[in-house]
Amino acid sequence: MITTNMAGIGMTSQRTRSRLIQRLRDKGIIEENVLSVMEQTPRHIFIDEALSHRAYEDTSLPIGMGQTISQPYIVARMTELLVMSGPMNDVLEIGTGCGYQTSILAGVSRRVYTIERIKPLQKQAVDRFKALNLHNVTHRHGDGFLGWEEQAPFDAIIVTAAPDQIPQPLIDQLAIGGRMVTPVTLANGNQELYLVEKDEEGISSMKIEEVKFVPLLGGTIE
Ligand code: SAM
Repeated sequence: MITTNMAGIGMTSQRTRSRLIQRLRDKGIIEENVLSVMEQTPRHIFIDEALSHRAYEDTSLPIGMGQTISQPYIVARMTELLVMSGPMNDVLEIGTGCGYQTSILAGVSRRVYTIERIKPLQKQAVDRFKALNLHNVTHRHGDGFLGWEEQAPFDAIIVTAAPDQIPQPLIDQLAIGGRMVTPVTLANGNQELYLVEKDEEGISSMKIEEVKFVPLLGGTIE
């Protein structure tokens, strides 16, 4: 059940949403399709009503179970990196969380597959996908470290929690020409965002910027 206000905050929401999009432009986001989908997506339905007045701030916010909804700038940046680098037919997301990033991906991809390890979060996200009429999202409760072998290969993979190393199953499940955006936690505890590309020769990776994500953890929670 969605505990937030679907009808929304009306005109205020529309104005603050447009202001957020302007802030993303100011921070260097240029992919119009991504900006347009983010402008149309009601972020306030992905968080608890008590925090909905902060929904259009460019900040991450708590969603319960020790997890967060990602900062809009990071959602935009990771999505734009994938959209600008190649096809978006089959896209895998690791870490559904509240489902906000999934919904943005659904607007710029043909099919989105998303995996979440915490069942209550996954359930709430699925209710939101239904409320938003997203018909191109397939979801699963599971350990995203292992990817989704049955649906591979993927044109694009997005990891929204930070591993210490890029999981090998995700590299294996990327198509030739496929790309992955993922944070990685370094030995000193800092995190860096990488764009990884796969071709016939293997993979190459490019550091994008420093980031801060919750850790990618193994196993599942019922
Ligand atoms: N994508 C979300 C959004 O739209 O804001 C942000 C997700 S939150 C920062 C990271 C999520 O990754 C959490 O919900 C966490 O439970 C999940 N997670 C962590 N390790 C995971 C794993 N091995 N498999 C699947 N999900 C995982």
